Amino acid sequence: MTNNFFNLVQRQIKNGFNQSHISNTMKHILLQPTNEIIFNFPVKLKDDTIQTFKGYRIQHNNILGPYKGGIRYHQDVHLDEVKALASLMSIKCALQDIPFGGAKGGIQFNPRNYCITDIERITRGYTQAINNYIGPDYDIPAPDVGTNSQIMDWIMDEYNVINNNTHIKHIITGKSPQCGGSLGRREATGRGLGVIIDYMMKNNYPYELTHEDNKLYSLKLEGLGNVGYYLSDYLNRLNQQHNDFCPTQIPVRHQENPSYSIKYLSDHTGYYQINCDNFDRISSLNHILDYQKNHRCLQGLEKDKSYNITKITKTDFLQGYCHVFVPAALELTIQEPEAQLLNCKLIVEGSNGPVSNEAEQILMERNIPIIPDILCNSGGVLVSYFEWIQNISNELWTEEKVLTKLDEKMIECFDKIKSAEDHDIYQWRNQCYQYAIEKIFDVYSSRKSYLF
Ligand code: NAD
Repeated sequence: MTNNFFNLVQRQIKNGFNQSHISNTMKHILLQPTNEIIFNFPVKLKDDTIQTFKGYRIQHNNILGPYKGGIRYHQDVHLDEVKALASLMSIKCALQDIPFGGAKGGIQFNPRNYCITDIERITRGYTQAINNYIGPDYDIPAPDVGTNSQIMDWIMDEYNVINNNTHIKHIITGKSPQCGGSLGRREATGRGLGVIIDYMMKNNYPYELTHEDNKLYSLKLEGLGNVGYYLSDYLNRLNQQHNDFCPTQIPVRHQENPSYSIKYLSDHTGYYQINCDNFDRISSLNHILDYQKNHRCLQGLEKDKSYNITKITKTDFLQGYCHVFVPAALELTIQEPEAQLLNCKLIVEGSNGPVSNEAEQILMERNIPIIPDILCNSGGVLVSYFEWIQNISNELWTEEKVLTKLDEKMIECFDKIKSAEDHDIYQWRNQCYQYAIEKIFDVYSSRKSYLF
C-alpha cells in the first residue's frame, strides 16, 4: 500500500530508475533527504496564552543549487509528508533545469483557527527557529498550502532583523511585489497548469481526447485555493480571448482554438456541480471566482440561485463526466476507490502526489493518462527562480516578461519529455523522473566521482 505519501514518492523515484542505466548509489542519495530538521517553538498569542508549535524544514538534495521549497501551514503536516514534498522539489527543479535543489517546511497547525496577529507571531517564531538553517544561497523557502505572500514578507523581515538588520530579499520567494516579490508569482502555478492543458488541446494530444467535441473541453477541479483559482481564471481568460462573445447571442467560437468549461468543483467544504450551459459559462465562472475570493471557500454559494450551482455527493463528483480532471488540493486524494469511479479522459496533476500508486495502476488499465505534478505544477518554482534572479540583480521584470518566460519554459519542458524517442503516453511520470534523475546523476558523477 502507498497511502503514505513519502512511500509513494520513494516508489516513484525507484520507478524512474527502472528504466535507467544509472548507478545504484544515486538511489541511496535520492531516497532519503540530507537533513531533517524538526523543532518545537513556543509562541505568546494575542490573548497572552503560550502555545508550543511543531515545525519542520527538510532539505532533500542540493547538488544542483541551493535548497528550495515551500512552507505549509496545515493541521496534518508531519515528517513523512514534508520529506515527500522536499523530494518532489529536487526532482521538479532538475526536470525544469532550474539550478535549485529540493526542500520543504511546515508548521503543524490550522491557520483557519488563528487570527492574523497570531499567524504573524507564529511565522516569526518559525523563522527564528529555522534562521540557522536557511540562507539566500543555501535554502530559500516559498509559499505552499496555507501560506501566502504576506507570510513570506514577514519571514523576510524577521530574517533580516535577526541577522543584524540586513536587507536581503532573496532569502525567500513568493513575497508581495512591494517587498521584492515577482509580478506573476501569485498566479504562476495555476497558469503553468493552464498553459500545459491548452497546449495539449491545441496540439491534439492525446488524440483520443482532442479530436472530438468541437474543441470544447470540460473540466473537473478538486481544490480552489491558489492553484485551482488561478488555473480557472487563466482558462476563463483564454475563453474570452478565443471567442467572440456577445451577451445576448450564442457565442461565435473560433474553431481552431479550444474552449474550456469547468463543470465540477470541490474544496474542503464539499463538491459542487456548475449547471450553466456553454452560453454563459464565462460570466458564471467569474461570478464563482469572485465568491471564492471573498469567502476563501465555496460553502454557501449553492444557496444563492444566481450562482446556478448544486451541492453534490463525492460519488456524483467523481462519476460526473469531464474531459480533464485536475486535482489541486492535497496529496493522495485519489486512491483505489476514487480511481475506479473517476470519469474523465485525462488527469493533469496540480497538487503534489494526488494519485496513489495503486490508483495509478487502475487508471492506466482504464486508459486514463496522467501528466504528473513534477511537470504540471512547476510554474510556481519557475517564477520563484525568476524572483530570486530579480532580487539578486536588483531588477523588476514586467509581468509580461515573467509570464512569457513562464509559458515558454512550461512548453519547453513538456516538449522535451514528449519528444523523447521512446515516449509513451502512459509513462509520463516515469519519463519525467528519468530525465530529472539523469540530470542530477550527471552533476554527481562530475563533481563527486568518489561516490560512483
Ligand atoms: P491552498 O491552501 O491555496 O488551497 C488548497 C485547496 O484545497 C483549498 O481550496 C481547499 O479548500 C482545498 N481542499 C483541502 N482539502 C480538500 C479536500 N479534501 N477535497 C477537496 N478540496 C480540498 O493550496 P495551494 O497553494 O493551491 O496548493 C494546492 C496543491 O498544489 C498542494 O498540493 C501544493 O503542494 C501544490 N502546489 C502549490 C504551489 C503553489 O505555488 N501554491 C506550487 C506547486 C504545488
